[in-house]
Amino acid sequence: MSALEQMYQQILLDHAKRRVGDGLLEAETGHRSGESHQHNPVCGDQIRLRVDVDGDSVHAVSWEGDGCSISMASASILAEMARDMGRVEFLDVLTELRELLRSRGTKEGDEEILGDAAAFAGVSKFPARVKCAMLAWVAAEAALAASDDSTAVAAF
Ligand code: ZN
Repeated sequence: MSALEQMYQQILLDHAKRRVGDGLLEAETGHRSGESHQHNPVCGDQIRLRVDVDGDSVHAVSWEGDGCSISMASASILAEMARDMGRVEFLDVLTELRELLRSRGTKEGDEEILGDAAAFAGVSKFPARVKCAMLAWVAAEAALAASDDSTAVAAF
């Protein structure tokens, strides 16, 4: 294993333990929220993910789920990265990650765009695990779309 692969492995192990964003949170007053539940029947991973959207930015991502370490690390990396990230920027990361994961090991991925999600480079060599890595991101994409149809959380 190369030094880079070892570093990526470590990032995934850390996130699988830390589970950033684990535990669903209510959206803040004045924000919109959207939710999505996704299931990966191949591996048994599942996730319910909620986005808290503030105007053009993702304010926070929270989730609850269960699954393999790749799927849990992926949700954790997503939640950490997406915090206060512009929505357009977030969708760029998602597109880049999807291309990386579909490359079957032929792409390295742009680390400038991907940040810690670049750690999934090795996963693209294992097509059966691609869904595990993509699950939280697909959920976030659907949750963002759902947030467009929601009304802002009213102040009490
Ligand atoms: Zn899995």
